[in-house]
Amino acid sequence: MMLIYERKEECCGCTACMSICPKQAITMNPDEEGFLYPSINQELCIECDLCKQVCPFGDNYRTSGNYDQPIVYAAKHKDDKVRMNSASGGMFTAISDYILDIDGVIYGAAFDENFVVRHQRAKTPEERNKFRGSKYIQSNLIGVFEDIKNEVKKGRTVLFTGTPCQNAGLRAFLNKSYDNLYLCDIVCHGTPSPLLWKEYIGFLEKRSKSRVVNYFFRYKEVGWRGYNVYALFDNGKSKLNTPDVMTYAKIFGSDLALRPACHNCKFCNFSRPSDITIGDFWGIEKCMPDFDDNIGVSLVLINSSKGQILFQRISKSVYCQESNTYDCMQHNLHSPSLKAPQRELFWQDYKDRGFEYVLKRYATDGFVVDLMKTVAKVLDKLGLLQVVKKMYRRVKYLKTWLRKRNEA
Ligand SMILES: Cc1cc2nc3c(=O)[nH]c(=O)nc-3n(C[C@H](O)[C@H](O)[C@H](O)COP(=O)(O)OP(=O)(O)OC[C@H]3O[C@@H](n4cnc5c(N)ncnc54)[C@H](O)[C@@H]3O)c2cc1C
Ligand code: SF4
Ligand code: SF4
Ligand code: SF4
Repeated sequence: MMLIYERKEECCGCTACMSICPKQAITMNPDEEGFLYPSINQELCIECDLCKQVCPFGDNYRTSGNYDQPIVYAAKHKDDKVRMNSASGGMFTAISDYILDIDGVIYGAAFDENFVVRHQRAKTPEERNKFRGSKYIQSNLIGVFEDIKNEVKKGRTVLFTGTPCQNAGLRAFLNKSYDNLYLCDIVCHGTPSPLLWKEYIGFLEKRSKSRVVNYFFRYKEVGWRGYNVYALFDNGKSKLNTPDVMTYAKIFGSDLALRPACHNCKFCNFSRPSDITIGDFWGIEKCMPDFDDNIGVSLVLINSSKGQILFQRISKSVYCQESNTYDCMQHNLHSPSLKAPQRELFWQDYKDRGFEYVLKRYATDGFVVDLMKTVAKVLDKLGLLQVVKKMYRRVKYLKTWLRKRNEA
């Protein structure tokens, strides 16, 4: 039997193999962790090898044409409302606005009506706005590459946004550069399991006795730094950073449920598969303190001459400062995320004991710690956290002083 990949660490699920197969012999099916993998129907396969040749995790993949080292910027959208609704500095909106202005079409990741993350297409700002905000779940790309090929061949300008491996898969599938196709990737920590996300949404709805109608992983009302998670329910109620709302983000942050290929990622470096890379400019407060206002600053890597032209065209809508590969460095620009030592145990527990058990065991700090964190966040919002911390330090000092005096 022919295999496209040998180990799960060698398949990022980009769907390039499925899209290129001339016999439609490949389907993408979920494994027990909920990640999609290609499988070949041997009766249809003619062993042409195209699926292997196109694979961005295979030996044939080349990132030809792009700069060896990117040009680096810190950038933020001039409209603060845009930044408030974006994960970092709103660069995605600036780029996609330009594409929409020239009657182009955008492909990006959005929640569908069942909260499954899928790549969709947008022709208007309203449709595009659904792509704003990071969704920390692997998105479903089935059928998207073929759709993009049709659009670019018709001459329409297309912007594709997604993870680096999705960009690499699309690039390899098209096997030709089109002047009217712009590729935009993100700095990528990794994508967790869609199955776990589905379980989590079910858990949250059961616990809140209402359907989730909106969900933000990067809620900015309380600042850009840290992961502030906000869920809005059908009954009009909302939750911000409550322990139950935070559990999924904790699983994401602890690297227990990333796709196995993310620990073997080929794109955690400056050799990017896209024209422009966008990310969070972590560390901006150290290298450009005046540029930081805690609403979000985007890191922008210009990877090709096409990316450079695109960046010039959108320059009217963003403030930007040139930077360098040293100041913008972060973990996933030099190494893949490390596999959590407990990953196997986590999934075994999930299979044996179910979702709520793993939530309790791996994503809860315990009632007291969770309560203290919630209280601290409320105090911070009220501007009282520093006062309480000062009082706590004074009480601690007084206790030490009294103890020493008694001992003397
Ligand atoms: C899974 C994931 C991991 C990330 N890891 C890092 C990281 O380690 N370091 C870092 O600096 N930045 C990371 N980012 C990128 C960062 O969070 C912002 O997406 C980026 O800075 C763009 O912000 P913005 O304000 O320009 O855009 P926004 O308006 O917030 O646009 C979001 C863009 O991300 C795309 N997107 C959202 N969810 C997904 C998804 N599930 N799959 C593919 N594309 C998606 C949308 O299509 C859109 O183009 C990650 C994003 C995701 C989705
Ligand atoms: S070898 Fe060719 S026909 Fe067979 S699955 Fe791969 S692409 Fe399809
Ligand atoms: S990485 Fe993409 S092309 Fe390669 S086997 Fe997986 S889905 Fe197919
Ligand atoms: S970490 Fe790498 S393999 Fe995983 S989703 Fe991101 S780009 Fe793809």
